[in-house]
Amino acid sequence: MNFQPVLDAIDAELRPLLGAEGQVASYIPALARVPAAQFGIALRTCDGHEAAAGDADTPFSIQSISKLFTLTLAMRRLGDALWERIGREPSGNPFNSLVQLEHEHGVPRNPFINAGAIAVADRLVSLGHAKADLLALMSDLCGEAIAYDEEVAASEAVTGFRNIALANFMKSFGKIDNDVREVLSLYFHQCAIRMNCRQLARAAAFLCRDGAHPSDGEPEVTTERHTRRINALMLTCGTYDAAGDVAFSIGLPCKSGVGGGIVAVVPDQLTLCVWSPALDANGNSLLGLKALELFATRTGLSIF
Ligand code: GLU
Repeated sequence: MNFQPVLDAIDAELRPLLGAEGQVASYIPALARVPAAQFGIALRTCDGHEAAAGDADTPFSIQSISKLFTLTLAMRRLGDALWERIGREPSGNPFNSLVQLEHEHGVPRNPFINAGAIAVADRLVSLGHAKADLLALMSDLCGEAIAYDEEVAASEAVTGFRNIALANFMKSFGKIDNDVREVLSLYFHQCAIRMNCRQLARAAAFLCRDGAHPSDGEPEVTTERHTRRINALMLTCGTYDAAGDVAFSIGLPCKSGVGGGIVAVVPDQLTLCVWSPALDANGNSLLGLKALELFATRTGLSIF
């Protein structure tokens, strides 16, 4: 199937709506000053064809989309031992909630809420070279150098009171092994990775290829079993409190971030990245979700 006309049509349809609704994340200056009226979409098929439209080459802060890649690294290195410290249930609470941690003795509900991602970061810090390994993974998957935005990372640290509280709270239950500052430094840096839609569609391509590297001939990124599990977590926990609605209206595993990006997977077919900075009340990109719904409807692609 030639997807270029589909992406062009979605871009043309959504462009008049840019900036009309939603709010850009404003908790740090570097995100607050991103112009709302931007929209990009890019995809990569399992056999390596790429298509893109709109602002697909404009870099943005990937924020929580990074949780996909730290989870992949941790699963690859630790296997099932990872799940001794992290659950796999949707939380039904805001992504930065402290409430459930108290009841569940410092074990976060899933790796995509902040507490879960901080617990994953702790495991990676224990393994050593975590910041360098994460950038190496991202650069290797995209075939282009990927970097941390140090201004965003520093702002995350200055304003991250709730994340600092989450990490310390888990530490109080004995569920964080490393120095909390070192763990949070990794977490704040992973949120501050800058990438564009094309790069993210490529970087996530292993998720539609049973874990195979986006470039044929390279060693696999992770196993088929891990890939299935990551996709399952994306479907059930990947879009904050809207995961049920996203499954209902889009029907694809997705992971979103407050920078306005969303990565979606059609297993055995393609990966897709949409970006538009204005967010809905749940923290998902408003036009990003609309774009995914249009794409699923027009192509008939769904996991159901
Ligand atoms: N960096 C922000 C935080 O940790 C937002 C992460 C997100 O995209 O959900 O609170």
